[in-house]
Amino acid sequence: PKQAYARTKPHLNIGTMGHVDHGKTTLTAAITKVLSERGTGGPTTYVPFDRIDRAPEEARRGITINAAHVEYETDTRHYAHVDMPGHADYIKNMVTGAAQLDGAILVVSALDGIMPQTAEHVLLARQVGVDHVVVALNKADGADDELSDLVELEVRELLTAHGYGGDAVPVVRVSGLRALEGDPRWTASVEALLDAVDTYVPVPVRYVEAPFLMPVESVLTITGRGTVVTGAVERGTVRVGDRVAVLGAETETVVTGVETFGKPMESAQAGDNVALLLRGVPRGTVRRGHVVAAPDSVAPRSRFTARVYLLSAREGGRSTAVATGYRPQFYLRTADVVGHVDLGDAGVARPGDTVTMTVDLGRALPLEPGLGFAIREGGRTVGAGTVTEVL
Ligand code: GDP
Ligand code: MG
Repeated sequence: PKQAYARTKPHLNIGTMGHVDHGKTTLTAAITKVLSERGTGGPTTYVPFDRIDRAPEEARRGITINAAHVEYETDTRHYAHVDMPGHADYIKNMVTGAAQLDGAILVVSALDGIMPQTAEHVLLARQVGVDHVVVALNKADGADDELSDLVELEVRELLTAHGYGGDAVPVVRVSGLRALEGDPRWTASVEALLDAVDTYVPVPVRYVEAPFLMPVESVLTITGRGTVVTGAVERGTVRVGDRVAVLGAETETVVTGVETFGKPMESAQAGDNVALLLRGVPRGTVRRGHVVAAPDSVAPRSRFTARVYLLSAREGGRSTAVATGYRPQFYLRTADVVGHVDLGDAGVARPGDTVTMTVDLGRALPLEPGLGFAIREGGRTVGAGTVTEVL
């Protein structure tokens, strides 16, 4: 029998973000390696680089996995850590709030400094309410102190510009690659990074008393067992035997199993990354973007007002203005839905502007004030916003 998950330490969701090739996946692997060898940190299993960056293989097998979750424990916490293979996956999973990060490790190569995706991830993380960022100044093995100092200064300024209080943010010089190779100096640097995460990212307040809600991140059909949905519990608690509604599939069912990282658990609560086994849901009816929730606890809606920041061209946004009638894709939680934009009296908005808009979605979703979202068009992020009122 599988060993059950024992909730002995606070659980937090964190993830790596940052520009492609700055070393996010290498660092993720290094963290699990260092902790697996620490001995005192609990049962962390080393996850090698190619098991994290396995998206292509999974894609061939027809399973859409565009985020790798690894699990590890420090002396004081249990972490689920998400690493994305590419920028678009980052947008889908982290920026929409699907990954529900309590904190993020911003990976910046000391050899390259801030790059466009570094800035975009910081901007959008702020927008969706990731309140705590720790910086891994990676590839420090190849950079001299002068260069590292310069990049550190640049990163602190970037963070300050986005409201993160860059002077207070821990910036730790690390080498994921050298730590993976077992070099003691750089193993210690990863330990220092983990200490910074342990102390700087607070245990968040969890809404465990609220009605259960979990956005569906992926769906698997297991022959003979039924349909499994995975995701991060946004609020409330769910246990085996609970009745749930699947919004999007417009059906109700019963949860017949709850697991986290392959370990069964009696009940899952806000903040947990879980797989739920659902009874008798026909194959193909539940999809990413649907929401599993306590029956009658939420009414899906399609019209809302929002405050939206339109990225400037320099930040990777549009180079031309948008007008009422604009129909981009809206990424809300795990859903990806077309929306009609009404800019009111102004009628137009330019890249770099922060504006109020009314949005009509092509499909009703559970909406609420404060919900963050990203606006995408032609494969790139052009805006980020927050729901201010549901109409
Ligand atoms: P990601 O795209 O951010 O996930 O970056 P990867 O982890 O795939 O790393 C990109 C490249 O940088 C690979 O060739 C790594 O071996 C290299 N790399 C990663 N971390 C380090 C480091 O700490 N030092 C050096 N010198 N190279 C690194
Ligand atoms: Mg990677």
